[in-house]
Amino acid sequence: MRGTVLYGPRDVRFEERPDPKIVEPTDAILRIAATCVCGSDLWPYRGIAPITEPQTMGHEYVGIVEEVGSAVRQIKPGQFVVGSFFTSDNTCPHCQFGYHTSCVQREFISSAQAPLLRVPLADGTLAPTPAMPADDLIPSLLAASDVLGTGWFAADAANVKPGATVAVVGDGAVGLLGVLSAKQMGAGRIIAMSRHQTRQQLAWEFGATDIVTERGEEGVARIKELTNGIGADSVLECVGTRESLWQAIRAARPGGHVGFVGVFHEVQLPMEEYFYSHVHLHGGPAPVRRYLPELIDLIWNRKINPGQVFDLTLPLDQVAEGYRAMDERRAIKALLRP
Ligand SMILES: [Zn+2]
Repeated sequence: MRGTVLYGPRDVRFEERPDPKIVEPTDAILRIAATCVCGSDLWPYRGIAPITEPQTMGHEYVGIVEEVGSAVRQIKPGQFVVGSFFTSDNTCPHCQFGYHTSCVQREFISSAQAPLLRVPLADGTLAPTPAMPADDLIPSLLAASDVLGTGWFAADAANVKPGATVAVVGDGAVGLLGVLSAKQMGAGRIIAMSRHQTRQQLAWEFGATDIVTERGEEGVARIKELTNGIGADSVLECVGTRESLWQAIRAARPGGHVGFVGVFHEVQLPMEEYFYSHVHLHGGPAPVRRYLPELIDLIWNRKINPGQVFDLTLPLDQVAEGYRAMDERRAIKALLRP
């Protein structure tokens, strides 16, 4: 088969790779139905997270089970499945507490931008759909694999409750789906921070009630103004920079909650200011597997349509163009089909 390999900054190649094989008896091999480029893939792509040797890419995937190892019990060949970017056994104490991305057996999936994928711990990592999905559901099911699951965790970690006032920092796919998640969780007011018209449009569609175009201190002031000087009950931090984190913490009311899911690189938390903020912080790599059955159900019954974040669809062999389009912000998110 051919698969995606990143050689260095802005050097993505789609090249001959060995077909994945069953290695452990708990593995499954998937035939990928759709995969995509993640905002976090842009870190190594831009050279911000340096890479020392060529690396395979891709951690968002849906597909049909082609083959399973001898110890796989629940997942069957022929099933359509959604998986998460970390494998999980779904049985260890951390999984039982719902923190599948801290599973004692976790491994990162990193070669999903290919037609075939080996998934370790298949029974614990993969969630099947009720039947073979209609083609138009595939983008939404793919979104559940990472960006929707991550936006959902951001909202959950930010303690979004019915009637809550929510602010969302970040208008990438995760931030936009954080808006959708907050709406599903019953938020009364959802303030999306975005200065891009196409992204604002999607935020409105997903349930935003207000849009703030200002950033940094001005953005915080605008949120305070919209909330009678109080601040938001829940803030979703979906970027992962020092500025976005502080924007989130300062936009929250004292005692409010910030859910952070942007991947930080060398960001320090000044404890003195944080000490006086009274803000709860919770986040990290989203335990997407915890939410998959519920998210699949919402998508299957057409209650949500998170697949709208994909505004570019390309054949998998044009994966390099997918990276370019996202890097240049010509696309919110690129879907790739083998
Ligand atoms: Zn586990």
